[in-house]
Amino acid sequence: MPGTDRIFPDFKHVPKAELHVHIEGTLNYDDAMKMYATHLENGHSVPDMEELINDETKKVKVESFGKFLEYYDKYCKLIKTEEDVYNLVYDYLMRCADEGVIYAEIITSYDHYKELRTDYSTVELPSIDEASIDEEDKSEAKPKLHYKILSYSEYIQTCVSAIKQAREDSGIEARILEALLRHNDVEACCKTVNMVLEAKNPYVVGVNLVGDEYNNPPEKFEKVFQLAKRGGLSVTVHVGEDPRVTPESIIATVDMYDLKRIGHGTQAARSEEVIQELRDRGVTLECSPGSNYATEFWPRDEEHPVTIFDEKGLLVTLNSDDPAFDGFRTVGEEYDHLQSSKGYTNKKMCTFTRNAVNAAFIGEALKDKLNAQVSVYETYCDLVDYIQSADTPSIARDSMHATLPSVGETFKSKFEDYLAQRTVSSLKEVEACTREGSKLRFLVETLHEKQMTYNEAVDVYDEFYQERFCDYVSDHADRAAGLVT
Ligand SMILES: [Zn+2]
Repeated sequence: MPGTDRIFPDFKHVPKAELHVHIEGTLNYDDAMKMYATHLENGHSVPDMEELINDETKKVKVESFGKFLEYYDKYCKLIKTEEDVYNLVYDYLMRCADEGVIYAEIITSYDHYKELRTDYSTVELPSIDEASIDEEDKSEAKPKLHYKILSYSEYIQTCVSAIKQAREDSGIEARILEALLRHNDVEACCKTVNMVLEAKNPYVVGVNLVGDEYNNPPEKFEKVFQLAKRGGLSVTVHVGEDPRVTPESIIATVDMYDLKRIGHGTQAARSEEVIQELRDRGVTLECSPGSNYATEFWPRDEEHPVTIFDEKGLLVTLNSDDPAFDGFRTVGEEYDHLQSSKGYTNKKMCTFTRNAVNAAFIGEALKDKLNAQVSVYETYCDLVDYIQSADTPSIARDSMHATLPSVGETFKSKFEDYLAQRTVSSLKEVEACTREGSKLRFLVETLHEKQMTYNEAVDVYDEFYQERFCDYVSDHADRAAGLVT
């Protein structure tokens, strides 16, 4: 219906949440080129961007899984300084917020960061360790300006500063999972867990076992998981992503580590029993259809099982994984793709967001706040449905068009107040928004049913609300319309 967008200018996106994104894999082309130019100017070694970037898509090429890993390492070498790390996290979260993301759990990999930056001079190490320089980088490794390779605490603190600023600027919430690189040995992973525990940063809420699951199955890492859990860290594991592993191994992993959440789990689709087991145990799946197609872990000519999982009652979430790479999608694109291919309503899409919020490694207070934001949006969906379906007589409709924008403005400003406060105590504000939504719906309905003018309807509404406001809120306009008859 014309005018609807005008009435609700700040509800243009379904609220979204993601639980699975490798922060280094989010570095987009524009930001990468800025880093490239700065590093070149400062005499730092830089990767060959022509080799890495697909000229058409402006994303990093993914020619095979092997190439994906190779290019990933080369591309990530662009992220060097504290400023680079800060911008990487901040820019990603702000782009997410623009797509309507209200919560993101980002995977950082300090081990990867450190491993790949040994070819650069640091302020602590004025001489370059020649032995650690890649052949291809040797010719370029003549730093004019030294920079510091961050310690883990500094690295995480930089990420957290970016998270806080992004929250300040957009309202988005984010937390961090530290990656455990399974191609390193068990002791190296234990060291990573200890590093996280020692840093005691409240924004690092868990660990995520990443990398080649076929050659490094989860059972190898029992000691690591015990250490993480004893230290109070939540755990999730990339499992059932690679088609060479059996669906049954997903359940074995879930059992072994009592997992509530798994990365991908796509191969579960090959077994009805495994699907049922995952559903019965309430395990949440961090699905990334774009990623699975891009890496060819799921055949391009087969429908991705994300919809089957959802239809069979599994807890599905939508995630970008590594959105800077060819074929991978942003969170917004994952939502849009699923919604348009299945014809899902906006309200239905909120299911995936709620699944993510409920499975996030965060406390109940933050979950309540995020779910409340989803509730406000669902109320909005109901209103729009109502307005769109109402067979409003033309007089009332004209009146509605003339007056509803002001009601919409109130709704909008209250919601903005809520976002600005961003505290749990402001849940009352969300309730207020919902009441405003109910009021709007009531007015529309009254205009329609009674053919009143807008002001007459407001009078009825105010009189009615003096005594029955709270009851009305819970029962919405259907009941209210009956009561004013
Ligand atoms: Zn991943």
